[in-house]
Amino acid sequence: MSIAPGSTLGILGGGQLGRMIAQAAARLGLKVQVYNDDPGSPAFEVAGEHTCASFDDRAALEAFARAVDVVTYEFENVPREAAEIVSAIKPLRPNAITLATTQDRLSEKRFLSDLGLGLAPFRAVDDLASLEAAVAAIGRPSVLKTRRFGYDGKGQVTIRAETELSQAYSEIAGAPAILEGFVTFEREVSVVAARSPDGAFAAYDLCANTHRNHILDVTRVPALVAPQTEAKAREIAATIAQALDYVGVFAVELFLVRNADGTEELLVNEIAPRVHNSGHWTDFGAATSQFEQHVRAVCGWPLGSCETFGEIEMVNLIGDDVLRWREILDDPQARLTLYGKAEARAGRKMGHVTYLR
Ligand code: AMP
Repeated sequence: MSIAPGSTLGILGGGQLGRMIAQAAARLGLKVQVYNDDPGSPAFEVAGEHTCASFDDRAALEAFARAVDVVTYEFENVPREAAEIVSAIKPLRPNAITLATTQDRLSEKRFLSDLGLGLAPFRAVDDLASLEAAVAAIGRPSVLKTRRFGYDGKGQVTIRAETELSQAYSEIAGAPAILEGFVTFEREVSVVAARSPDGAFAAYDLCANTHRNHILDVTRVPALVAPQTEAKAREIAATIAQALDYVGVFAVELFLVRNADGTEELLVNEIAPRVHNSGHWTDFGAATSQFEQHVRAVCGWPLGSCETFGEIEMVNLIGDDVLRWREILDDPQARLTLYGKAEARAGRKMGHVTYLR
């Protein structure tokens, strides 16, 4: 089925990522319908149509799928049943296999490991006994992470020399989990890339990311790594995309480790099967924004150029940071994006600023 301007893109999820995808879609002459369960969704305000219903409302999901031409999602925790209902009616891009693989840390790690990609050692943790066995095998420090619904460091406990395992296990409330070896990384980097239904692949320059309170704070491009590292990151992204028969934009979060001989090595932390915060800089800093690229890929249109315009810095506005909006607007180097969220709660992503140096 061919999708042309004038068709309708359906988006599952209504946060800022959905909002920016909707804006890019509108610019290319598409209609947009957003589906989310929160009446205050930032994406509702910029979409021609929206459905406010729960993700277990079969009738609403079916009506949504019938009303659109192709469906994408802006968060990876879309329930499996919802994805199945929608994909039985219209193409779901990225596909349901991608969702199933990436919304569970254990299946994601197994998938990455089967591809032969470098990653920290990991073990499944289902009870205290398996946590004890995993710590015996992997050692300390290590990181206990819930298999599902973790983001921005939530659902994670670092197991240090002195950590009581029973205490750590109770901190994640006995949820199914994995234990991962602690990576002594030099920096955190990410590669944002896209794949289209015909297998075309394009990646942006590697991004260097710093975090504040477990939340992305600043992304810088170029990442200033060795050329082989940059090439390796693209290769990792292409391998993952092909194995998932992926369609759309995605990010791979990587740890950059400095080996004893001075060489750089990349270990995969996780896959984000969607546009990603570390790709927001592309909106002003690259020839094609990640949001437009995602729309192009999902519609089966030609991918755009990923060329970077100089040196870029993207700074997140978290919570009260957004109160500086007037001062940011006053800075001729700053390009401000706000998500239209009513309340600047602590830790909430309210917008971002892109600086082109
Ligand atoms: P995640 O939710 O898996 O992306 O983890 C959030 C953050 O915790 C990462 O961006 C890292 O800063 C840190 N982290 C996660 N896993 C590890 C690990 N195995 N070793 C060291 N730091 C980690």
